[in-house]
Amino acid sequence: MAKISINMGKGTLDNTPKGDVIVGIDLGTTNSLVSYMVDDKPVAIKDKDGENTLVPSIIYFDTNHLVKIGASAKSKLIEDPQNTIFSVKRLMGKSYMDMKDYEGFFSYKIIDDQTDESLVKVRIGDKFYTPTELSAQILTELKNRAEDALKQPIEKAVITVPAYFNDAQRQATRDAGKLAGLDVLRIVNEPTAASLAYGIGLDKDANKTVAVYDLGGGTFDISILKIEHGIFEVLSTNGDTFLGGDDFDRAIMQYWTATHQLELDGDRQSIQILRLEAEAAKKALSSQDSFSTTFQEMELSITKAQFNELAQPLVSRTIDACKKAIKDAQLKVSDINEVIMVGGSTRVSLVKDSVAAYFEQEVNNNINPDEVVALGAAVQADVLAGNQKDILLLDVTPLSLGIETMGGLIDVIIPRNSKIPIKAGRQYTTSIDGQKNLKVAVYQGERDLVADNRKLGEFVLRNIPPMPAGIPKIEIHFLLNADGILKVRAKELRSGVEQTVEVRSPYGISEEDMARMLVDSIKNAKEDMKVRGLIEARTEANNVIMATAKFLEQNQDIFSDAEVTALSELYQLLVESVKGEDKDLINKYMDDLNTFAQPLAQKAMDRTISEAMKGKKVLGD
Ligand code: ADP
Ligand code: MG
Repeated sequence: MAKISINMGKGTLDNTPKGDVIVGIDLGTTNSLVSYMVDDKPVAIKDKDGENTLVPSIIYFDTNHLVKIGASAKSKLIEDPQNTIFSVKRLMGKSYMDMKDYEGFFSYKIIDDQTDESLVKVRIGDKFYTPTELSAQILTELKNRAEDALKQPIEKAVITVPAYFNDAQRQATRDAGKLAGLDVLRIVNEPTAASLAYGIGLDKDANKTVAVYDLGGGTFDISILKIEHGIFEVLSTNGDTFLGGDDFDRAIMQYWTATHQLELDGDRQSIQILRLEAEAAKKALSSQDSFSTTFQEMELSITKAQFNELAQPLVSRTIDACKKAIKDAQLKVSDINEVIMVGGSTRVSLVKDSVAAYFEQEVNNNINPDEVVALGAAVQADVLAGNQKDILLLDVTPLSLGIETMGGLIDVIIPRNSKIPIKAGRQYTTSIDGQKNLKVAVYQGERDLVADNRKLGEFVLRNIPPMPAGIPKIEIHFLLNADGILKVRAKELRSGVEQTVEVRSPYGISEEDMARMLVDSIKNAKEDMKVRGLIEARTEANNVIMATAKFLEQNQDIFSDAEVTALSELYQLLVESVKGEDKDLINKYMDDLNTFAQPLAQKAMDRTISEAMKGKKVLGD
């Protein structure tokens, strides 16, 4: 809600009301920035000198563990690499196991603390920092920058994350905001924010399919979105978490090293200087045809044509990823209505031209590609503040969420592509008499068997009062909030015993895994259905077997010997069939047993009733 201030002294409306400002934040791998709305337009906030909007996502710790963030930390990458943290976004919500293959990529130490499921930490001297704490440092810097510029406290923010970020990564980002003293009103997908910056999705009646091509410093993401009535659906994502502008810089360095026989081995300082020269060359070549500089008293130069040759294989890899994303979304190139360019590296001419050629259309690149995500986050913040009427921005959940049921099957509670936020629930019961505890294991994925899906977490609902099997009514309730974070509640309705947990997954999921899980689910649908049929038949048969055994034991005296023998034989056949793989056979024996037992059950029931009558236990007597 926009606030109106009244000047009580003069009795007039104050026409420059200072309501809460909600800022939009792009917390990037390479660069971060903060923006807000001025006169219905999003604006990125500059540093004190009024020059840069970008804050390099770099944190430097001095010997007293005091921090420097951003541009002032960047130079420390050369001087003091062990104490200078970059690319912390890659570590968000990840376990050490997820990252250990990439250890060499980081100049600082990443560690775990021995437990299997522990999240990765960064070691600086004798202290350990979580990626959440480190990101909070960057967010604090952005918050301070906004407070200096707007001259008021900033307490609310919208923060963006890649579309493929899972629950744990989103939660870690939200926690970082909290640590920085920000109330994070919404976690928004980066491609959604980029679309909003272009006004796409703000018109409720315009339906569009959009490709967002995001080539940053070290990562490449392509996302295909469907936008209908203000609802953003991520149809597919693809990309490469180790491909970006840094690779262009490295290619230029290698070119110069080879053509000038530069000998740099081990000289960190010189390597870093050359790297910066290479980056300068790359940037210059986005707007001019050649570049030259001097390095170690030598002239180094490169033309645009030479650079294009170096960049070509890298750009081709991004186009291959686009092809896969289009295919996963089950679309054709001609179905894409808009292509949006995001990330500093989309300024490279070869990138722009290749993307336009592949999508067969002009691309949207007139908003600064470094800023577009943060600007869109400010637009989203404005929508949340209620300043943009009639717009409801919703995302959808990319993978189904459910719980494990008998036989290791997943029971989906929130299906894939549900609009979020969403609440959904279902009732279950116990399978054993007097069962006191019930394990609730939560999974994400599209396959029928939990073993093929990803476990998000589990907990135990304890202290269910003892009741016969089938009597407790246990409601499992899922609440998936607008950030894609899941809360699960289990409640036994007869007794009111309940437990709620926020599900955080210990391991991160990579975008490749996410894509693979979806593809697998389609490939294996038939096989899964067969397995599911067999497991369901077995589960049901086991219940019948247990019930029959109990029934025989309690009622043997009223049946004839022939009846007992026949029932026992059918019982045995069912027991044997459950050990096999033939679901039809199991179902057949189950039917046979049920049909035969029906009149016997009637007889047993009649006896129970007449006994009750005799004992005058019938109500109303
Ligand atoms: P991230 O999203 O990973 O934080 P950015 O979107 O800020 O990254 O992109 C940073 C990358 O953009 C760096 O590799 C930088 O060199 C590159 N870049 C910035 N400006 C230009 C330019 N004019 N031409 C080519 N590349 C550029
Ligand atoms: Mg980015």
